[in-house]
Amino acid sequence: MYQIIDGKAISTALKEELKEKVTKLAGQGITPCLAVILVGEDPASAVYVNNKKKACEFIGIKSLSYELPESTSEEELLKLIETLNADDSVNGILVQLPLPKQIHEDAVIKAISPKKDVDGFHPESVGALCIGQPGYVSCTPAGIIELLKRSNVEIEGKECVIIGRSNIVGKPMSLLMLRENATVTVCHSRTQKLKEVCKRADILIVAIGKPKMITSEYVKEGAVVIDVGIHRLEGKKLCGDVDFDDVAPHTSAITPVPGGVGPMTIAMLMKNCVESIGFSS
Ligand code: NAD
Repeated sequence: MYQIIDGKAISTALKEELKEKVTKLAGQGITPCLAVILVGEDPASAVYVNNKKKACEFIGIKSLSYELPESTSEEELLKLIETLNADDSVNGILVQLPLPKQIHEDAVIKAISPKKDVDGFHPESVGALCIGQPGYVSCTPAGIIELLKRSNVEIEGKECVIIGRSNIVGKPMSLLMLRENATVTVCHSRTQKLKEVCKRADILIVAIGKPKMITSEYVKEGAVVIDVGIHRLEGKKLCGDVDFDDVAPHTSAITPVPGGVGPMTIAMLMKNCVESIGFSS
């Protein structure tokens, strides 16, 4: 029988722990403050931003909200970031992606002070992760490490295969698994014999962006499978990149969608915000 890795329960436990920490900080007169910037009216982004604000409220983190029109220029956004960088009362800055066409994401990511980079996307944060120095870590991969550890999945010495090499999931995930002493293989759209490579994995982490692509043919008997993908099917049901019903019986543990990796992303963002007190002061 396989274990379902319950991201909802684990993220709730983590948020409770953070709430306790923030209450203690409040006793010392310290309240972490996150500035959240949303540009434009993308409905999915608005939902994400709202969920982040709600999580801040639950934990006791102060959140400042900047909702800018779709027509905002790159210069205007960079100016706001500069102001927030210089504001000592702001510990973390988050710009919700994607941004409207006229704004270059790279320029915005680089403009945020690495001391306030709670998303962990700044080149300095990524570089620090690469060479094993302290810094912010991208929330989704950091959340996966937390899920594995809190579910007692052994990582050290295990074969880990990651499908996907994006800057926000696949690449930082590979660095984190290396840091945990796994033997890491990263696959992508040009990988040959993908099924055979995946079949080697003790831990298979899937971040492809293709609904239910991974079937039991890709999975070694008894592997741990982490599904990062999230897709809304017709009829509004959610699914991941893994065909859960087909794959789960062949695993020792697996994350569901919804209720697996998703809830951990916001919880880890909150963790980064609490830690930003140490980084930004
Ligand atoms: P992305 O599109 O940036 O990257 C996808 C990666 O998959 C690429 O590196 C590509 O090379 C690889 N790929 C594509 N087709 C492939 C194929 N046929 N075989 C092998 N590799 C292939 O996506 P992303 O931003 O990394 O996100 C991946 C998925 O995770 C998406 O479904 C996204 O919605 C989801 N996601 C979820 C969370 C969360 O909090 N749960 C966070 C980020 C992303």
